[in-house]
Amino acid sequence: MTEPENVLLMARRQLATAARYLDLDEGLHEALARPKRQVIVNFPVVMDNGEVQVFEGFRVQHNASRGPTKGGIRYHHHVDLDETTALAMWMTWKCAVVNIPYGGAKGGVRVEVKKLSRRELEKMTRRFVTEITGILGERSDIPAPDIGTNPTVMGWIMDTFSMHAGYTVPGVVTGKPIELGGSEGRVEATGRGVIVSMEEAAKIINLDVSNCKVVVQGFGNVGSVAARLANDLGAKVVGVSDARGGIYNPEGLPIHDLYQRYSGIDGGIHNFKECESVTNEQLLELPCDVLIPSAISQQLHKGNADKVKARLIVEGANGPTTPDADDIFNDKGILVIPDILANAGGVVTSYFEWVQDLQNFFWEESQVNERLSRIMRHAYSAVDQAMRAHKTDMRTAAMIIGVKRVADATVMRGIYP
Ligand code: NAD
Repeated sequence: MTEPENVLLMARRQLATAARYLDLDEGLHEALARPKRQVIVNFPVVMDNGEVQVFEGFRVQHNASRGPTKGGIRYHHHVDLDETTALAMWMTWKCAVVNIPYGGAKGGVRVEVKKLSRRELEKMTRRFVTEITGILGERSDIPAPDIGTNPTVMGWIMDTFSMHAGYTVPGVVTGKPIELGGSEGRVEATGRGVIVSMEEAAKIINLDVSNCKVVVQGFGNVGSVAARLANDLGAKVVGVSDARGGIYNPEGLPIHDLYQRYSGIDGGIHNFKECESVTNEQLLELPCDVLIPSAISQQLHKGNADKVKARLIVEGANGPTTPDADDIFNDKGILVIPDILANAGGVVTSYFEWVQDLQNFFWEESQVNERLSRIMRHAYSAVDQAMRAHKTDMRTAAMIIGVKRVADATVMRGIYP
């Protein structure tokens, strides 16, 4: 296993590449390479056994030139300040690539979420939100779900913030349950956007989606929906995994059955019978046409990129491919649809949820999905054109578009005072 690169350095390397293409002013490059605000909080929670446990949490706002900052809250034992900052940066470019009026943010708590009871999870969430409440707001910084969090947690965030405000503020967080001002289609939105991106790429590289083999790493919100929608298009999903391991069947897996049993419970998919067990490392090297990494960062690196057999990689996860692996994929002619485009469906539908909350006027699911699909296809086409115009790879092309929009907004607004 290759030693993981610092993920923030990786994000900055990607920015530097785009900056060279754009001939970006040095000072502006420096401003974009740093987050606007980083908050670290340490807070106690009384656990079910009466003991006090102290948690460390983070909220990072990267850039607000194009609008309020937006980004998920992650509960995972690897959460740290650098990773949260890198994820906030990617959110800035992502919102700009799909041209929605947000900057980027990210937050998280370092915690093994499976070790908490539901009551402990709720208390930890409410105390964390209380600690960062001053920098959140429907016009300033709007969280959403990420690894280890879900609509229930978003509902607690909304309630906690609203309790402090003294009135209900649904627009302060997205990915909420529908009953609390959530949007139809939000739960499926990221996976749906991943599959729309896959379809667009397939047209260009002459891949028959209804007759291709797909492997998905991660069977959480993003991965399980992407697997299900790929299956519905006729693709054979031959391999899937979660944190504890994966399963493989070259004839295709019963995805709807797996979805019913394992989505939303995080773990256990390796117990499914009538298929071969594989490790997460082996899963990434399985024979397939499309690989959809939908778990954590830096899964595709210089130690395994050469062994990847897919023709197309669609990044459901944030940062799953290191720059070294990118180089190998480019050399091998494997197309990588980068995270800031491929998984933008989540934030696009979060934007729809926010608009609906601010207007108190709610849309039907078909409207949400149709608008999401239109934005994703439009963004895909713009990135594809930029890739050809600059004769570069797709990640760099997406970065060029995203960074340029943010840089332009920063220059137009001017540096205050
Ligand atoms: P989730 O918690 O719902 O699911 C994560 C999945 O990954 C689980 O199946 C988990 O078991 C698995 N996993 C964790 N560690 C793993 C490992 N080491 N190897 C293999 N599998 C592992 O999270 P999610 O919301 O589906 O997010 C997945 C990825 O997608 C993250 O990178 C996240 O940042 C990104 N993303 C999520 C959204 C969203 O709307 N939820 C939007 C954009 C991007």
